[in-house]
Amino acid sequence: MNNLKPRPIYKLAIMAGDGIGIEVMESGIAVLTAATPEVEFDFVHLEAGAGLYQRVGEALPLATVKEAERCDAILFGAMGLPGVRYSDGREIAPQLDLRTHFQLYAGLRPVRTIPGLVGPLKNPKSGQIDFVVVRESTEGLFAERENGVLINDEIARDSLVITRGNTERICNFAFELAHARAEKGAPGQVTCVDKANVLQSMAFFRKIFDECAANFPDITANHLYVDAAALDMVRRPWDLDVIVTENMFGDIISDLAAGVVGGMGVAPSADIGPQTAMFQPSHGSAPDITGQGIANPIAMILSVGMMLDWLGEKYKDRRCIQAASRIQSAVDRVFVDGEIVPADWGGNATTVQITQALIEKIDAREILADRKAAEI
Ligand code: NAD
Repeated sequence: MNNLKPRPIYKLAIMAGDGIGIEVMESGIAVLTAATPEVEFDFVHLEAGAGLYQRVGEALPLATVKEAERCDAILFGAMGLPGVRYSDGREIAPQLDLRTHFQLYAGLRPVRTIPGLVGPLKNPKSGQIDFVVVRESTEGLFAERENGVLINDEIARDSLVITRGNTERICNFAFELAHARAEKGAPGQVTCVDKANVLQSMAFFRKIFDECAANFPDITANHLYVDAAALDMVRRPWDLDVIVTENMFGDIISDLAAGVVGGMGVAPSADIGPQTAMFQPSHGSAPDITGQGIANPIAMILSVGMMLDWLGEKYKDRRCIQAASRIQSAVDRVFVDGEIVPADWGGNATTVQITQALIEKIDAREILADRKAAEI
């Protein structure tokens, strides 16, 4: 339990990055501003990304990291361009460097049906999809991404690293999240997704998960191998609550999960660390649609909502929590009458039109009522 108080001004590191990251960031800031008339933010715009690397030979300048250290949270667009690579063939990926630097160990990917957007699954239960993928984000198969080995152009090797401390940290995080969700009506269940039938590292991950589970008797602990989890995410995603998994598995299954509720354009994420947190849409820079003005901003907008929730919980700031709920409620209403259909859902609404329509749904009366309730 911390004893932090609401801040007079929240300082936000804004890293728009590349491609549609820049386009959806404008929407995110516009919605944040509309939803929080009573909260003050200082937007600190910071440079990073593949475009910057092309221009100056550096993807994540030290000055950007240092400035981000002085901020209360990081809001991130998207970074990376397929043609911009290091000499070893890997793409530049400052988001991974930020995760390492700030120890952003818990990657949260909420997966929830948005009313009015018809997903790819026909089963009527698909309207009830509501689960979270918790991805360990500091080790696993990404642990040695700087140290991969290529021998004589014949053999390449990367290592999968699982440590007790980091696995306990992520499993406890997942159980605490399931506990908090259960208080709001979720089933109270955590599923460990692994490959414990094949890999030593994964058997260890599962063992630690089971040890942590023993400390949360009110939460049901389940197991799924990652291949079976991929099947269940399509076959019965409405039965899932919280999933906890290794870094690479989390990377893959969270995109699959996004697909069952309508794709990357509506998939938000948070990377939570001990001191700070970064919030970003799950998607990349989408070079195929950059500059066309049709990027779906919902993933970014929902990430802004997650950031407000996190700030609200951390600083015990009711205004941020109310604003997060206003954003969620506006997202739940903006597509219902079928007038606004994003391009990735087969329609022709532009980024700006979706953003405007959403801001109109942020009800001024709600803001007034919240303010009055606070005065009583
Ligand atoms: P991507 O997420 O950029 O795009 C995948 C597909 O989804 C594309 O067809 C794209 O048009 C579509 N899409 C993504 N976001 C959308 C949105 N908001 N609205 C509508 N359609 C959307 O993935 P990619 O093409 O594999 O990667 C492109 C670049 O982004 C690469 O350089 C990659 O490394 C990088 N990337 C960055 C991040 C990040 O910054 N966190 C994440 C993933 C990929």
